[in-house]
Amino acid sequence: MAYKLFIPGPVEVSEKTYKAMTTPIMGHRSKDFTKLVDEIMPRLKQLFYTNDPVFLSTSSSWGVMEGAIRNVVKKGVLNCCNGAFSDKWYDVSKRCGKAAGELKFDWGKPVDPEALEKELSTNKYDAVTIIHNETSTGTMTDIRAVSEVLKKFPDVVSIVDTVSSFSAMPIKKDELGIDVMITGCQKALAIPPGLSFCSVSEKAMKRAETVEGRGYYFDFLEFKKFYDKSQTPSTPIISMLFALKSKLDDIFEEGVENRYARHAENNKIVRQWGYSHGFELFPEEKYGSITLNCFKNNLNIDLPALLDELKKRFAMVFNGGYGKIKGTTFRISNMGDETPETMRELLDNIDVILPNYINK
Ligand SMILES: *Cc1c(COP(=O)(O)O)cnc(C)c1O
Repeated sequence: MAYKLFIPGPVEVSEKTYKAMTTPIMGHRSKDFTKLVDEIMPRLKQLFYTNDPVFLSTSSSWGVMEGAIRNVVKKGVLNCCNGAFSDKWYDVSKRCGKAAGELKFDWGKPVDPEALEKELSTNKYDAVTIIHNETSTGTMTDIRAVSEVLKKFPDVVSIVDTVSSFSAMPIKKDELGIDVMITGCQKALAIPPGLSFCSVSEKAMKRAETVEGRGYYFDFLEFKKFYDKSQTPSTPIISMLFALKSKLDDIFEEGVENRYARHAENNKIVRQWGYSHGFELFPEEKYGSITLNCFKNNLNIDLPALLDELKKRFAMVFNGGYGKIKGTTFRISNMGDETPETMRELLDNIDVILPNYINK
């Protein structure tokens, strides 16, 4: 049964995007392929606000998240942990055999720039990981404040995950001085999963040249060698590159500023809806994500039952909480192609059945 996704990834894919994916593929060493990459790359860089290369990786985001660790960490990596994805990144660093430190914040709290400065001052680290928008808790870190701190540590390579915020708001990589910026395609870009992106600064490339054990598949030097030829090291997910090209057409046709404003408006509609029912936001309001709302289930609704009926009756789904806050929170995504109208349609449907599931 087909149903509409309001979960925070993967998100609903448009008919136009699906159609683009059916374009016949070509050889990845052909002129047609390099032409496709050349059509994509300038606009992709524009969305990253960067002049650095953007590597196209056929993997989910975790591929390049792990790859970044393997490429730039020599002395040690500080993982800022404030939710399920960032906690996992610390685990991944250790699995890569790196010296890893954990800077812990309660779930729902952003990365605190002062605590970050204090920890980096120990001089134990030459890399740091930060998740801009912690999707598990709907919490957004003030990346500008964090980047001011990072500028005081020129030997530290910054790795920033923008997986669930990229293209929904401006994240100006070069201006912020982010060395490695990572995103995926199945969140705000609303493309089916399988393709991820990684933009790498000169400083991070220089570091990678000196790091042993980078492996092959996610080696920045391999990526760069082929990037220079508008190619990828191995056969990429060509169908998703057609989808991306189509999505970039959509984005620039709408206008990036309009796109950001639409995400903000969608988000506000859902937040107001939640408040009007008495739901509290899980993070502090100021740090609430722009691409999803994570509410506390403070009205004690029977989430599995409500989600089941929403799916059966209205063919729509949102998310009933992630990791250790499953059941005690729920998350509604407003990413991708959603509009105020489609968000209201979801909320109206929830309103029809919500009274049946309040256990107070
Ligand atoms: C979804 C998500 C990931 C993981 O992405 P995959 O594509 O599943 O590997 C990582 N970080 C954040 C913030 C996410 O939202």
